[in-house]
Amino acid sequence: MDLDHILTHLGEDRENYYNAVSPPIIQSSNFVFDTIQEMREALADEVNHHIYTRGNNPTVAILRKKLAALEHAEDALVVSSGSSAMSAAVISQVKAGDHIICVQKPYSWTYKLLTNFLVKFDVSFDFVDATQIEEIEQAIKPNTTLLILESPNSLTFEIQDLSACAELAKKHNIITVIDNSYATPLYQNPIDFGIDIVIHSSTKYINGHSDVVCGVICSSSAIISSIFKSEFMTLGLNISPHDAFLILRGLRTLPVRMERIVNTTQAVIEYLSKHDKVEKILFPFHDTFPQQELAKKQMRACGGLFSIFLKTRDKKAIERFVDNLDAFLIAVSWGGHESLKLPSLIFHDMQGQEDSPIPYNLVRLSIGLESPDFLIKSLNNAFSAM
Ligand SMILES: *Cc1c(COP(=O)(O)O)cnc(C)c1O
Repeated sequence: MDLDHILTHLGEDRENYYNAVSPPIIQSSNFVFDTIQEMREALADEVNHHIYTRGNNPTVAILRKKLAALEHAEDALVVSSGSSAMSAAVISQVKAGDHIICVQKPYSWTYKLLTNFLVKFDVSFDFVDATQIEEIEQAIKPNTTLLILESPNSLTFEIQDLSACAELAKKHNIITVIDNSYATPLYQNPIDFGIDIVIHSSTKYINGHSDVVCGVICSSSAIISSIFKSEFMTLGLNISPHDAFLILRGLRTLPVRMERIVNTTQAVIEYLSKHDKVEKILFPFHDTFPQQELAKKQMRACGGLFSIFLKTRDKKAIERFVDNLDAFLIAVSWGGHESLKLPSLIFHDMQGQEDSPIPYNLVRLSIGLESPDFLIKSLNNAFSAM
């Protein structure tokens, strides 16, 4: 489906709201029926009807249609966070006694879902180096039911061969789920490679304005309907109609924001590649990235999130670099309008994190909507202060 059609027309129901261009926020918990028969019909297919806003809501429904189309999926659910999107997707596919294979170093709350939460329900797991398909194959057990992917990783950017993973999983009757937050539906559509369930933290690029926490689950109608009837309704994962309105507004500019971010990132990375205080750059489309060829095969472009290793082991110098990098705000998260910096030094200073596999001279940068000149000037100042 045409991208412009999806963003401007799909799912809009303007005749029902005075031909307003922008949809109303239907701030109602409840929807009424004219007759018993009408209500009976709605209850029989709640995922497609408006009965109660914990289930479906007209403002949220517009967003569901657009996001499903963007991910080449039959249906989608919009949920309260990226973390709840992954949790609901995973929980929907396992039962006590099952085994999960997951990529190494997944997003922190995906890690905790397996290690803190699902262990209580007798679901076991293995983390594997999923850059090697053989490592996944060797980890498969008779009770493996789910493979969790995240491509690229959002700190160290390893990727997985999505076609190979989907093919292997299908052979063993294993469902595949991927965290596709980094690439956005514009730059990577895992369903086209045979992946079953795609989740996003739409807090990041999809909303893009650092003002809503939200998530998306995209899959077949059968899987979405099953998640809706169980995890979604039971755990109450719905977002508010107001948040849906904000995400819709953010989504309208996703292509222009991403185009701007991709171009700025390219300029910033070109500058960093030549700088003698940069030891290494982790970015899937960079010439030095070991999986660059695979990245270019399955991603149409690369976002604005990447990591650099500073060419020093002096923690004070790293702190001077970060503190003097004024154009970038220091914070968690990414994908908003504002450029951000996150030094791994922060985690090393936390108790119990000394043995982290991530070296302390790594700094993650997220490029926002500022101009490349503004950001490069600030980087120049920060390197001088190092
Ligand atoms: C932020 C993030 C999440 C979690 O999303 P929330 O909306 O914060 O719950 C999941 N995966 C990745 C890669 C993320 O960066």
